[in-house]
Amino acid sequence: MNPDSKVYVAGHRGLVGSAILRRLEGEGYGNLLTRTRAELDLMDARAVEEFFAAETPEYVFLAAAKVGGILANDTYPVDFLRDNLSIQLNVLDVAHRHSVKKLLLLGSSCIYPKFSPQPMKEEYLLTGELEPTNEPYAIAKIAGIKLCQAYRKQHGADFISVMPTNLYGPGDNFDLQSSHVLPALIRKFHEAKERGDPSVTVWGTGTPRREFLHVDDLACACEFLMDNYSGGRPINVGVGKDLGIGELAALVREVVGYEGKISYDTSKPDGTSRKLLDVSRLSELGWRARIPLREGIEQTYAWFLESRPVGAGG
Ligand code: GDP
Repeated sequence: MNPDSKVYVAGHRGLVGSAILRRLEGEGYGNLLTRTRAELDLMDARAVEEFFAAETPEYVFLAAAKVGGILANDTYPVDFLRDNLSIQLNVLDVAHRHSVKKLLLLGSSCIYPKFSPQPMKEEYLLTGELEPTNEPYAIAKIAGIKLCQAYRKQHGADFISVMPTNLYGPGDNFDLQSSHVLPALIRKFHEAKERGDPSVTVWGTGTPRREFLHVDDLACACEFLMDNYSGGRPINVGVGKDLGIGELAALVREVVGYEGKISYDTSKPDGTSRKLLDVSRLSELGWRARIPLREGIEQTYAWFLESRPVGAGG
C-alpha cells in the first residue's frame, strides 16, 4: 500500500475498524473508503457489488462482523453464524471479481479448540472441539479463513487472515452486562472511587489468565501484514504474554486511583483457565506489540472519562 492507494475499511465504526482507520489516517493515507451500515449493508450481495464496481478499492480490511459476548452468541446463534458468513461471502467474492490487490480478514482467537495447548499456535486450528458458547461466531470465522485460503489456491487471490487475541482500547464496550473484563474493571473501579465504595467485586476467582492487546497495536500489525505478508496460513496477533485476572484488577485499581479493597464473586464463572496466543510467526515476520499494558489502560481510562455517555455512572 502507499498513501495514494484506495483502501476500503469495512466496519470502520467498530473497535477494530475504527483503530485501523485512525492508523491509516495517521500514516497519511488520503484515499480511504468507508460506509456506515445504513449506507451499505454488507449482507446485501447486490449492494456490495455496486459499491465495488463504483469505487474499485485496491485494498480491503474486512473488520465488519457481528460480534458479542457469551450471552449474545448463545441467544442469537443464527445472527452470529449467518450474518458473518454472508458478509464474508459477499465481500470476498466481489473483491476477487473486481481484482482487489489484497484483502485482510479479521478473525479472533476463539477459532481455536477449547482445550488447545497454550500458547496457541496457528496450526492448532481444527484440531479439537470449539468452546460451545461462541461456536456460531467461531464457525463463521473459520469458514472465512478457509475462504481466503480457497480464493488463494483456486484463483491466486491475495487474501490473508489475522487472528487477534483479547482486545481493548478506545471505542470499547463499557456495559457491565456485556463487556469484557478490562473495560468492566475500568468502569467498576472508577464508579467505586466516585461513590467512595469500600470494595469492588471482581467476577470469578481472579486466577484465570488472559492476554490483552491494545487495538492500536492490532491496527499497526494489520497495516504491517498488509504490506509484508502473503500466505494462506492465518497469523496470530498478540503480545505473547498473559497475566492473572487478579493482577489485572490490581493494575486497573492503581491506574484509576481507587484505594478500596478487591473482593471476588466466585459464583460468577471463571471461563477458560488460560487463553494465550503463540505469536512466533508474527515475530519472525518482524512485528511486535509496542503499547505496554499499563500505558494502554491509562489511555483507555482517559478515553472512558471523555467519552462515556451521560448517565453511565460516575
Ligand atoms: P473471556 O476471555 O472470553 O473469558 O471473557 P471476559 O473478558 O468476559 O472474562 C475474562 C475473565 O475475567 C473471566 O475469568 C471473568 O470471570 C473475569 N472477570 C472478572 N471480573 C469481570 C467483570 O466484571 N466482567 C467480565 N466480563 N469478566 C470479569
